[in-house]
This record gives sequence, structure tokens and C-alpha cells, in this order.
Amino acid sequence: MITRQTDPHRWDGIEVFPYKESGTHFKTITRQTLFAGDHDLPIELRYFEIGPGGHSTLERHEHAHLVMVSRGKGQVLVGDRVSQIGPNDLVQVPPMTWHQFQPLPGETLGIFCVVSAERDRPQRPTDQDVASLKTFAEVADFIKL
Ligand code: MN
Repeated sequence: MITRQTDPHRWDGIEVFPYKESGTHFKTITRQTLFAGDHDLPIELRYFEIGPGGHSTLERHEHAHLVMVSRGKGQVLVGDRVSQIGPNDLVQVPPMTWHQFQPLPGETLGIFCVVSAERDRPQRPTDQDVASLKTFAEVADFIKL
């Protein structure tokens, strides 16, 4: 089976879910589920786009992420490190590791994200978690809550 690309970063029959323009924990994101998992391959493949000025939720969880950057330049927090990312960079987020994706100014960051079909719900940082994240200067400057 082949799911054809119809326009750049859009696929035939795949719905684009717009997140609210200003949710409490994320901003300017769309999500497309390209593969929802089945008996033979219990993973999901999603494509997210984060528009200029947007960011993903700062979160952690027991399940891991495997992320491939598709378009745009951005930065990612994984644990206590902030790294520059661009097309075809591969980002691994281990279990229970704080993470957040942000595009650089004026950029739209598009990422493919693989997760287990069965997974736990994301956790948000407590005030104490935020305080300990902010002990790292580059993290303090980066994170958006
Ligand atoms: Mn996550």
C-alpha cells in the first residue's frame, strides 16, 4: 500500500488536525497520523508541523520517541541539552526525558515522529521540575511553558 504525497508535507486521505492557535502547553502545531499501527507493526508514524513562533509541549513520558526532521530549522531540548536541528537529522528521546521542539524564528519545523501504538500519557513538569531544569542556563533561556 502506498499513501501518496499530494502537496508538500500533505498526503492523500490523511487529515490535518490543527491544534488550537494558543493552547496552554503548545502553540501553532498541526498533526497528521500517517500510520496508526496495526497487529503486524504496533507503532504510529505521525507528522507534525510547528509554525513560526510555535513550540511543542514541554513533557516527558515512559515511552520513547524517534524523530526525523523533514523541513525547517529548529532547536530541541532533550534532557538538559538544547541542540540545533535541521532536515534529515534524527533525534532520539529516551524514556522519562524532558523534551521540547521549537522552530527558529521565521521557520516552520516539520518532523516525523515514531511512537509505540500503546503508550503512557505525557507528564507536564511540576514547579520543582521547572526549577531544576532552569539550573541549566541554556535550558532556562529555551523552554516555553
Ligand atoms: Mn513527547
